[in-house]
Amino acid sequence: MARLEDLTLFEAVESIKNGEIEKEGLLETFLERIRRLNPEYGAYITLNEGAAFREGGDGTGGGSIEGAPIAVKDCICTKGIKTTCGSKILKEYVPPYDATVVSRIKAEGGSVIGKTNMDEFAMGSSTENSGFFICRNPWDRERVPGGSSGGSAVAVSARLALAALGSDTGGSVRCPASFCGIVAMKATYGLVSRYGLVAYANSLEQIGPMTRDVRDCALLLNVISCQDPKDCTTIPRGKEDYLACLGRDVKGLRIGVPREFFGEGTDPRVEREVWNGVHELEGFGAIWEEASLPSLKYALPAYYIIAMSEASSNLARFDGIRYGTREEDEGLNWEESFSKTRGMNFGTEVKRRIILGTFALSSGYYEEYYLKALKARTLIRKDFERLFKDFDVLVGPTMPTPAFRIGEKVEDPLEMYMSDIDTVSVNLAGIPAISVPCGFADGLPVGLQIMGPPLGEGKILTAAKKVEEGLGLNLRPPV
Ligand code: GLN
Repeated sequence: MARLEDLTLFEAVESIKNGEIEKEGLLETFLERIRRLNPEYGAYITLNEGAAFREGGDGTGGGSIEGAPIAVKDCICTKGIKTTCGSKILKEYVPPYDATVVSRIKAEGGSVIGKTNMDEFAMGSSTENSGFFICRNPWDRERVPGGSSGGSAVAVSARLALAALGSDTGGSVRCPASFCGIVAMKATYGLVSRYGLVAYANSLEQIGPMTRDVRDCALLLNVISCQDPKDCTTIPRGKEDYLACLGRDVKGLRIGVPREFFGEGTDPRVEREVWNGVHELEGFGAIWEEASLPSLKYALPAYYIIAMSEASSNLARFDGIRYGTREEDEGLNWEESFSKTRGMNFGTEVKRRIILGTFALSSGYYEEYYLKALKARTLIRKDFERLFKDFDVLVGPTMPTPAFRIGEKVEDPLEMYMSDIDTVSVNLAGIPAISVPCGFADGLPVGLQIMGPPLGEGKILTAAKKVEEGLGLNLRPPV
């Protein structure tokens, strides 16, 4: 049998069920690996040493991920376990409740093994904006793992967890998945509850599974997707079994390849591997055709204006009084106290976004920026709608380049924002997208992005599974 840490989530759960392995042993394997390897990778901020399983499936022990230790991004609330959002301002915050996704994991017999490193408040694409320490890519430790869910991607790729949850506001599960050679999905807006996810830009974000393979992604999506009375934006609908989509074939599947996804700045090695993935699908009987998404050129500015505007409002509550660490403020009036606490505990990128977002929402500029961005958002959504009349799925690169070097972009925020060019439009349109490994560029993983119409998760999982099957890549990072 494979080493315990190499089992997929699906395999581990099966092996526990069959009595081939014990859940305590599996958990201890991961805890031991984290203690030994985390100093090197920086994947976890908090380890849940006391992780324990309760019998899932309503106490019968019949949960669908019975015995599985899952890593959870540190902006998702976990009862009794520190939830910092990668920020000094929340360094001591211990939530009194579980996010709905965490309750779902527990209800299915899984447990939270630890909380993963991230860009502060999920703002970034490299995890270098973490308020605590950076995180390293297991394929090349001088490179970033991507972000903002970098810690979750590293935990999965370096075998420090069976699977993980991340959050995706503009690409934050797909980007690190692409850079670390794993699978991750941002589902349709409203498929997964955001209750207990600390908000960055709530009209854009979804919590998503980050896993070693497509089957695990479907399994974890089964666990976390649900209509939730605590999040009124969740979609009322029956449960779909995403695992059932994996065996379907792609004969006759219509694939659109929007040329705008291969614009300036796309690494030719990425382009090559992405086409390789498309041809793999073609080999299974899918039909591809070039397509066009002209409004993609508005995606980055629209995304950043909307995300920063929402962030400036969402982060107002961290003032040391309502939420967050409070600095010594004797003799200060409340404005001075707020400023001191926020000035000392927010990092540079977070401050930049609060300032820009406040500006975009201020009177006189609101129409010029925020409102215009909303209009661009509508154009983008309509562009996708038009394409989904002709195509079942759209494909392109997840990221325009493979993982970049630590320090390469962190001093130049615009450079960093540009790397999100292929991911943000999906969040603006509210549609689902998956990143699945499709090859390597000089030893660094490359991700293929498959996008679908609203609630088209089944279709994109089917297609992703075929890519994975056809390519049969070895995705264990070098030791
Ligand atoms: N890189 C994007 C940003 O910085 C996306 C982050 C995310 O999805 N949380 O906003």
